[in-house]
Amino acid sequence: MASSKPAVRHPSHNHPLRSHKAQAEEEIICSGCDLDLIGAAFKCTKSECDYFLHKSCFELPRENRHKSHPEHPLTLLYSPTYESSAFACDACGEYGSGFSYNCSICKYDVHVGCVSMPETVEREGHAHPLTLLYRSPYQNGLIFNCDECHDTVPDNLWSYYCKKCDYGTHLHSCAVEEEPKRGGGGSGNTSRNNGGRSSAASDLLSAMLKAQREMERMQIELDMAMQSAKIAKKSRKHMLKMI
Ligand SMILES: [Zn+2]
Ligand SMILES: [Zn+2]
Ligand SMILES: [Zn+2]
Ligand SMILES: [Zn+2]
Ligand SMILES: [Zn+2]
Ligand SMILES: [Zn+2]
Repeated sequence: MASSKPAVRHPSHNHPLRSHKAQAEEEIICSGCDLDLIGAAFKCTKSECDYFLHKSCFELPRENRHKSHPEHPLTLLYSPTYESSAFACDACGEYGSGFSYNCSICKYDVHVGCVSMPETVEREGHAHPLTLLYRSPYQNGLIFNCDECHDTVPDNLWSYYCKKCDYGTHLHSCAVEEEPKRGGGGSGNTSRNNGGRSSAASDLLSAMLKAQREMERMQIELDMAMQSAKIAKKSRKHMLKMI
């Protein structure tokens, strides 16, 4: 019985939470890191409240000494303290409104998901491991373009880089390499089985259309988030200059 699990408190939320095993079908977004949530989680005990946390987000330390910002320790904020109630991440450049690690002295803000990016990654299609850099690989005024999506990576943002090949990418894997593999081992979508062949076919078609719409919607949201992050970043920098 789910209700027999003990309720716990987390300082980010004023209702008690209870542990929860999040299934993919629930399509939950973590209220801490704003990323998809599948697996070990905490859920608000109030049925009308949509507050969820990854177990890992629940357990984040309040203070973090991070290599990207050796000058000062970073403090976990449960919501941004800026007037806009949003921050522009100094790692990926994207906008965030959930948890962040923050240095209030430097106005340095990083998504909790970005803070935990590994120092090296293997990327499909590249023979060598890529190393995490806390800035663009080029520090001599040259413009660095991501070798996957070909967009410019701003100097101050994090990147993954292979020095041997002079190959680098944005912090997060770029769209081109995230093409879903088609026909690979079934979608696992067996939850609705109406029996008839024709309905199975139309189910598949409508699922595909739904997925396509979903992709389009996500792209639009992503574009909007990027835009507002850029604006927020610009105005913040501008304000800093004025002080
Ligand atoms: Zn999370
Ligand atoms: Zn709640
Ligand atoms: Zn980020
Ligand atoms: Zn600082
Ligand atoms: Zn890229
Ligand atoms: Zn290489």
